[in-house]
Amino acid sequence: MITIDGSQGEGGGQIVRTSLALAAITGTPVTIERIRAKRPKPGLQRQHLVAVQAAARVSGGQVEGAELGSRALTFHPQQPTAGDWHFDIGSAGSCTLVLQTVLPILLHATGGSTVTITGGTHNGMAPPVEFLAESFLPVLHRVGISATVEVQRHGFYPAGGGAIRTTIQPAFGSNSSSVPFELLERGKALDRRAEVLIANLPAHVASREAQALKHGLHWSHSEVDEREVRADGPGNVIIARLRFANVTTVVSAFGELRKAAEQVAQEAVQQIRRHLEAGVPVCEHLADQLLLPLALGAGGRFRTVKPSEHLTTNAAIIARFLGEVVTWEEQGADDWLVTVTGR
Ligand code: ATP
Repeated sequence: MITIDGSQGEGGGQIVRTSLALAAITGTPVTIERIRAKRPKPGLQRQHLVAVQAAARVSGGQVEGAELGSRALTFHPQQPTAGDWHFDIGSAGSCTLVLQTVLPILLHATGGSTVTITGGTHNGMAPPVEFLAESFLPVLHRVGISATVEVQRHGFYPAGGGAIRTTIQPAFGSNSSSVPFELLERGKALDRRAEVLIANLPAHVASREAQALKHGLHWSHSEVDEREVRADGPGNVIIARLRFANVTTVVSAFGELRKAAEQVAQEAVQQIRRHLEAGVPVCEHLADQLLLPLALGAGGRFRTVKPSEHLTTNAAIIARFLGEVVTWEEQGADDWLVTVTGR
């Protein structure tokens, strides 16, 4: 039994997700204490609770402490099991973060799976579906991981009501790739594009954001699109894609009640500029999310910006199950080399 202190480092939901996934994959029971101790509302919120229940279902496991608000849980996993899985968050909690829990587990099953999750598809502080579909999964494809994700219906905070569908092929075991991952250069810039999504909001919100984006980035009219999507409630997000030969970076900025459209655009502009200036291939978010799949596979290395607390905390949790397999070293301003030793 491994005991994890949920208050360490970032002290948020990622500690729970990584611990559950590693417990299921290694067949090790885990107790997580002080769950999300550094968040304003500590303990399991709906999204985390569904992640716990989902991890238990896809691994045939048992959980004690799987309740809303719970600050401690114990999970006894069995075997990763392929299937057609459905999970309903029942709020605007992030579907992609529930997927972040079950994806690594189902990559270890003996057959292919589909996973449908209902809830929020575009939440601040979580990967938007486009990030997983166009940045995260394509880079993992190079090390033999084959999975797809698509939005079936958009779901924004607070109404939720969205849905995503994922297909996952087994990637580890006898057919696992022994090729270490390497992403040291982003390669030639191929394309750049931004999309302003709105649901149930006046059209001027999208046009003001698009205008401010074009102005702030000096991008042409054809590089910024506006799209109205169907959703249960109001919602707004800017999704920008910076496509390079070796990687696509997906940047997002979310509209919120009482946040001016120009402010949302400005947040996207700043993130895009910062990423372009850093010159490294892997953005801050992709970096923390790559650690687990690489540590479970043949390992590898990549260049990224200064490691975030999500990255260092994720590395510490991985170390509890697999040993000290993640290291990072500074190579210059906003240029770090992260190395992951495979299993
Ligand atoms: P909590 O409510 O406890 O903060 P959480 O479950 O929402 O927890 P975190 O522990 O904060 O989650 O983890 C958030 C995850 O979402 C991290 O893996 C982070 O990289 C990812 N993430 C956050 N924002 C983005 C973004 N804009 N693009 C891609 N990924 C993101």
